[in-house]
Amino acid sequence: MAKTPDSDASLVDLPAAFARLGLHTYADLLLYFPLRYEDETQITPISDVRTACTIQIQGEVVQIETARPPQRQMSVVLRDAGGEIRLRFLHSYPGQAAQMAVGRLIRAVGEVRVGLFGAEMVHPRWRKVEMNTPLIDSLTPVYSVAAGLSQTLLRKHIKLALAQEQWVDTVPEVVRNRLKLMGFSDSVLCLHRPSPEISAEHLMTRTHPAWRRIKFDELLAQQLSLRLARARRRAAGAARLKDDLHLSGKLLANLPFILTDAQQRVWREIATDLVSAVPMQRLLQGDVGSGKTIVAALAAAHAIGAGFQVVFMAPTELLAEQHFRKLRSWFEPLGISVAWLSGGLPKKARQVALEDLQQGRAQLAVGTHALFQTDVVFARLGLAVVDEQHRFGVAQRLALRAKGHAPHQLMMSATPIPRTLAMSYHADLDVSVIDELPPGRTPVMTKLVDGGRRDQLIAWVRARCEQGAQVYWVCPLIDESESLQLQTAMDTHAALTVAMPEVSVGLIHGRLRSAEKAEVMAAFAANILNVLVATTVIEVGVDVPNASLMVIEHAERMGLAQLHQLRGRVGRGAERSVCVLLYHEPLSEMARARLKVIFESTDGFHVAREDLRLRGPGEFLGARQSGAPILRFADIELDAELVDQARDAADLMLWEHPLEVSAHLVRWYGDRQGFIQS
Ligand code: ADP
Ligand code: MG
Repeated sequence: MAKTPDSDASLVDLPAAFARLGLHTYADLLLYFPLRYEDETQITPISDVRTACTIQIQGEVVQIETARPPQRQMSVVLRDAGGEIRLRFLHSYPGQAAQMAVGRLIRAVGEVRVGLFGAEMVHPRWRKVEMNTPLIDSLTPVYSVAAGLSQTLLRKHIKLALAQEQWVDTVPEVVRNRLKLMGFSDSVLCLHRPSPEISAEHLMTRTHPAWRRIKFDELLAQQLSLRLARARRRAAGAARLKDDLHLSGKLLANLPFILTDAQQRVWREIATDLVSAVPMQRLLQGDVGSGKTIVAALAAAHAIGAGFQVVFMAPTELLAEQHFRKLRSWFEPLGISVAWLSGGLPKKARQVALEDLQQGRAQLAVGTHALFQTDVVFARLGLAVVDEQHRFGVAQRLALRAKGHAPHQLMMSATPIPRTLAMSYHADLDVSVIDELPPGRTPVMTKLVDGGRRDQLIAWVRARCEQGAQVYWVCPLIDESESLQLQTAMDTHAALTVAMPEVSVGLIHGRLRSAEKAEVMAAFAANILNVLVATTVIEVGVDVPNASLMVIEHAERMGLAQLHQLRGRVGRGAERSVCVLLYHEPLSEMARARLKVIFESTDGFHVAREDLRLRGPGEFLGARQSGAPILRFADIELDAELVDQARDAADLMLWEHPLEVSAHLVRWYGDRQGFIQS
């Protein structure tokens, strides 16, 4: 039976400076683990000191030199039975200097370096001792500190926190026994005050059993909160959608192609969700070009056939526009009215669209984030489709829910989520995967070209264009500045126009009005333009099957996911496609690693795994859109086994140990418990 969790201790007020480290309660302090440890459990003879090691020495002060103020430098020579070492203080305090006297015995802890006068310690921690002063019996923790918060103050409060009696174990005994987990109190004590026989190595690599326990607890908290969020959502209930008008069947019959096996499978999974009274929350994954749009369109047709409305959202105007055109061409023959809503829509047109939706005259709304706005009201919203969901924030997704009585949700993403990540951060979603490309595609060949060979590249592109090829020429975002990107794109456009006089070169970027963008895209799609110079606005979703060549400028500046997305714009026709990555030396190690990955693989899952490995989950997901607390201790790749174990334990605890569940969540998330909502 769990006691009230960490009650009094959680309420102790900490000095304000702690808040800057996210530390508000004693419970938070417990989980604030040291960066490293110093060993004051033994004394190293001065004759044995090695450089680049942090050690403790003890000796008698034999010499003190102090510089005059204002420098206040102090240099002290310490001697033990076997040798001498110099301690240097770049700024000493009057009190400190007064404590230091020739003939006095002191202990100093610090890193040894070789200075001008041989071995020395700069700014060691030191104190006066007697010959028989006992040694400290545990390793000394070193914490990460912030301005206004000293190591000493932090240590003091953590010590107080550790001394509290009521740190209950929130993991039930059956689970602890089965998984052979160390106790919670023992684990935190061990990590904050390790006994000297524990190897610091074992602690630093987080392989010690105490670490295993803490990582387990963290993963357990994550699993529990995701399960609870999922349960809350399911409890809300949704309309059962039955396609009485058989619109999805009609849409299928009209298509010029047949679905791949993978598309058929995921479509069945989605259709099953739609007829149930539990709101669907499904993530549809599939590499770029795998054909997610038609699957979403089938879901939309199904919902409309059931008498409901559907909203279809894309993160950029360009992509939304393209969806709009495609969906309209699919739906209008079926007698379905499609409304368009984007930020750039004239007031009058917007008003008409809004009324059509509110009155239920329009059954499908396609657009950008403009669809999230509060004046967008639906008569009967049954399904929301969110394309490239990783581009939207959690808040936006929540805003959607307010629009319908818990509509079914289908989210799509071309950024494949590795299994472990899916199991932890996306544990509250059902996932469908399209793991097959439509037939007739040939893999894109990727080439790395040094920026110095640009002229040769242009000559080659020109020759290819003369043979009828169509080319994307992509300029990256520079220093996060959109106007610089625009400038580069305009310069590139001008330069290519001059260098390839007989080739028609177009330009598309985010500053164009949507009608202008649509016009340029249409000209490119109709093969009136041979080359399209573009900013990264074309990154997502753009679909022109005849384009078989892509040049990416300054590829070294782009992230892996972005490169993969961009490259996915070519290789959509039967023609062998080429993607040229132009790079400029010097390359950072990270940039080199990224280029190597993208050069060697066209498999989106592989690219995503490598991306996750290079960046870590926090950046991979983007804190903004992950919706789940980022893990501080566990590593979902290295600790994959623990993720599985935490998942099973969460199941058991939710059924049989509800008190421990809430105690555990309070310990890990405190007030932030409501963080995960959808
Ligand atoms: P993504 O999954 O990247 O969103 P799209 O839905 O844009 O991919 O599809 C890419 C292209 O493949 C589109 O031109 C689409 O019409 C086409 N397509 C989709 N499914 C099939 C299929 N089963 N057979 C042939 N072409 C298909
Ligand atoms: Mg798409």
